[in-house]
Amino acid sequence: MKLYVVPTPIGNLDDITIRAINTLKSVKFIACEDTRRVQILLKHYNIEGKILLSYYHPKEAIQIKKIVSLIRKDEDVALVSDAGTPSISDPGFKLINTCIKENIPVEVLPGPCALITAVVGSGLPTHSFMFVGFAPRKSQESFYKEMFQTDVGSYILYESPQRILDTLNVISHIAPDITVAIARELTKIHEEYIRGNIKDVIEELKKRDNNIKGEIVLVLSKENTLAKEN
Ligand code: SAM
Repeated sequence: MKLYVVPTPIGNLDDITIRAINTLKSVKFIACEDTRRVQILLKHYNIEGKILLSYYHPKEAIQIKKIVSLIRKDEDVALVSDAGTPSISDPGFKLINTCIKENIPVEVLPGPCALITAVVGSGLPTHSFMFVGFAPRKSQESFYKEMFQTDVGSYILYESPQRILDTLNVISHIAPDITVAIARELTKIHEEYIRGNIKDVIEELKKRDNNIKGEIVLVLSKENTLAKEN
């Protein structure tokens, strides 16, 4: 049968498609990172009687064999991650890749993804963008220098609230005129965008005593599309 890749909400539990719910209802097996989180999700949508298979880094290899053998035995399996689209900075790639190489059908459902919501809400260019996953913890200067050598409308990174100020400080040395949008707690009660020149955004974060919480997407652009026209 098939592997279904099913995106789940990145905050607001209403952000799930009818097709995603129907798919989760139809399969017997759901592969997921954290079984407790999925149980909460399934309860919210009144989905019962599923067998949960934990699939998380670095234990993917063992579970891939199990999942592939279930699909070969005519079972459908849905893959979900803790939030958003599986395989985007989340486990999923190895399973999807193995299924494709083994001629197992893979059906990917479209749905929530933090980077897409963030770049659209940033006000920064969307005609072309580069997503580089989580901001690096080592060799940051050389990483950002190389990143900015590729000319795209916007650059998108996932970053933690504890590290955002340090990351912006590193970037401001390399690209002092860059425009920034911090997209925080997307789709949740405290959703917020902090937009502006990198120096202004750094000042804004300092004013908050670096007491910034929640989940963050960092969007950067060499173009200042946020400047107001007279
Ligand atoms: N698979 C997910 C997706 O489709 O976006 C990403 C998972 S990755 C492990 C988690 C990171 O995504 C967080 O550290 C944060 O950078 C970003 N993220 C996820 N949900 C978010 C939200 N509601 N608001 C802002 N950033 C979010």
